[in-house]
Amino acid sequence: MSENTTPALGFDDLLAANDAFAAKFTLGGFDGIAHRGVAVVTCMDSRIDPLGMLGLSPGDAKIFRNPGGRVTAAALEALVLGVHLLNVQRILVVPHTSCAMTKYTETELREIIGEKAGSDASWQGFHVINDQEAALKADVAAVRSHPLIPDTVAVGGFIYDVDSGKLDRRV
Ligand SMILES: [Zn+2]
Repeated sequence: MSENTTPALGFDDLLAANDAFAAKFTLGGFDGIAHRGVAVVTCMDSRIDPLGMLGLSPGDAKIFRNPGGRVTAAALEALVLGVHLLNVQRILVVPHTSCAMTKYTETELREIIGEKAGSDASWQGFHVINDQEAALKADVAAVRSHPLIPDTVAVGGFIYDVDSGKLDRRV
């Protein structure tokens, strides 16, 4: 994999790659349900391959990503839809090691972003994580206790190690 080959502007390289992708595309007409019954909530971190880490392929799982892999209101909305309309029977909440969201306080992040943006960022909320283990437990509990997610759905909390590729179940 090469580094720093990102063009400053434009989408041409990506659209050229899409032409090649579409030329070999075989998933047309596929439905959108989770064929392996899996939903994953994980971080937007570019080191994470949510399907690959679980031995899954397109069509197998619903993937919801955000900074930190947090169970936010939007994540719960996605999980409720997944469970009732898209065959989700197993939910994995997967934050990871070396996550940027564990490195700063909300105040620090607002200062850094404000400086980079050259504009006040004090109004912007970020779901920073002070204690990753505690946040994971709370997030898993939020899924398990959701009134629209039945007890028959398996819910687990795992930390993904970005250096070994291993998942470690914590909850
Ligand atoms: Zn992260």
